[in-house]
Amino acid sequence: MTVYLVGAGPGDPGLLTRRGAKLLARADVVLYDRLVSPALLDLARGDAQLIDVGKRPDSGPAAGDGAEGRRGQDERQEDILRLLVAHGRRPGVVVRLKGGDPFLFGRGGEEVEVLAAAGIPFEVVPGVTSAFAAPAVAGIPVTHRGVASSVTVVTGRIGGSDGGGGSGGPDWEALARAGGTLVILMGMSTRAAIAEALVAGGRSPDTPAAVIARATTAAQRVAHTTLAGLASVDLDSPAVIVVGPVVSLAHDSPSVTSGALSGRTVVVTRSSPRARGLVDALERAGAVTVELPLTRQVDAADGGAALRAAAAAVRDFRWVVFTSVNAVDRFVAQLRDARAFGSASVAAVGGATADALRAEGIEPDLVPAEHSARGLVEVFPPAPEGGGRVLFPAADIAPDTIDSGLGHVGWDVQRVEAYRTVAAAAPEPEVLARVAGADALVLTATSSVHALVALRNPDRSAVPVPAHVVCIGPTTAAAARGAGMTGVHEAWGASADGIVAELSDHFGHAGPAAAPEPGAADAS
Ligand code: SAH
Repeated sequence: MTVYLVGAGPGDPGLLTRRGAKLLARADVVLYDRLVSPALLDLARGDAQLIDVGKRPDSGPAAGDGAEGRRGQDERQEDILRLLVAHGRRPGVVVRLKGGDPFLFGRGGEEVEVLAAAGIPFEVVPGVTSAFAAPAVAGIPVTHRGVASSVTVVTGRIGGSDGGGGSGGPDWEALARAGGTLVILMGMSTRAAIAEALVAGGRSPDTPAAVIARATTAAQRVAHTTLAGLASVDLDSPAVIVVGPVVSLAHDSPSVTSGALSGRTVVVTRSSPRARGLVDALERAGAVTVELPLTRQVDAADGGAALRAAAAAVRDFRWVVFTSVNAVDRFVAQLRDARAFGSASVAAVGGATADALRAEGIEPDLVPAEHSARGLVEVFPPAPEGGGRVLFPAADIAPDTIDSGLGHVGWDVQRVEAYRTVAAAAPEPEVLARVAGADALVLTATSSVHALVALRNPDRSAVPVPAHVVCIGPTTAAAARGAGMTGVHEAWGASADGIVAELSDHFGHAGPAAAPEPGAADAS
């Protein structure tokens, strides 16, 4: 059968081509390299045979980096060629998955030669090469009008210059004279000698250089230096070295090095300890955060008596429905353990509530795709013949969407007050001043909107709201607009990531003034 030489791209699974993904999903056998991301192997069928043909760490230096261990690598390559031919002769789809592009320093050419000689049909599926992807994600344009009109991609091998034809290294002096941008692969172990050879050939020791290690993966690191400083860069393989004046063009872009929200101040109004996740996500994107507590949760008016009684009788219900993390926390605190649910099924309104249940060892039976009370009502099963009871532990201010929606399809809904949401104490004047100077404000619930409106400065004037307001869900957005706020946008999802995505899109690309409003068509 056909053997497909598929370029896996530089690391990020999103950079695999669509054809590559399709072939992986069809493959019976996958032979993959050391640099291939494990996430890509998940695209193969569960019963596909996955063969790791990368060099083992105990068999010498990392594959392809440095000249040492060349003999061991050659032996390894012989094994790969034998395996390819053996599998190619059997029925089934064989995918040979190679890092980056299969034909750039990947010995893909040798593999094709052997397949052709054996009469085995093959196809090459190009890949995104690290030679260009690594500079790109570091914000370095490899060519640039007036700065570099050529780019040369070379291996970092030193010595045995052969003019580019055989197994020796490149002619570094000629490369130095050629100017333009130089992209060096497999050059980390020889970087000192490379810098020396290029300077000897006439390039200035001050020529800007960059090292991009593990490009496009979560472990990506970028170091900026010069030819003179290249030897002292402390990063590990796999890494791409870029040499030339284009490297300085990346220095001017703060978003490349410090995240899409760098320099922005974002106000977070969540009061629960779970605001931490949102604060972390915003700070990872480079934002400075101000925490403005607006509400806090207190015990139910009856001191929790009704909640305790409901928890003790939970087995009498067909379903227990949760629409907030707080309700989960307070309800579960009344149970002996997760088994107390008995045969009652559990529904969660969205991801955060579901995660809170999972943290208690309870896997929710129902989570709607649309994370809202309405979304939950829409997918909720109708009551069986003769009806059935649903328990709904909720905040005092939770709307009656669940009660009336499930009532309509025959359920007998018993709502118990799990907690009350009350206004937090007035914040310090310094906090209010930082809020007034912030770029954006995040509102995650209608109760926060009301609490913000009720909040007053010491002189009794209203607290100024930043020009950009992000809300989770259409209901909160509608409440914010109803309260007279402008610049109200909906998060791209009911999660910290959904909030960061909206803010990054707004501040990262469109700039502070011009972004369209993705959530303008408010369905509520
Ligand atoms: N065919 C591959 C290159 C194989 S040679 C391609 O097209 O990308 C192996 C070299 O590629 C490594 O030594 C390193 O220089 C580079 N490389 C591969 N993946 C990389 C990554 N994610 N980040 C930086 N360099 C990478």
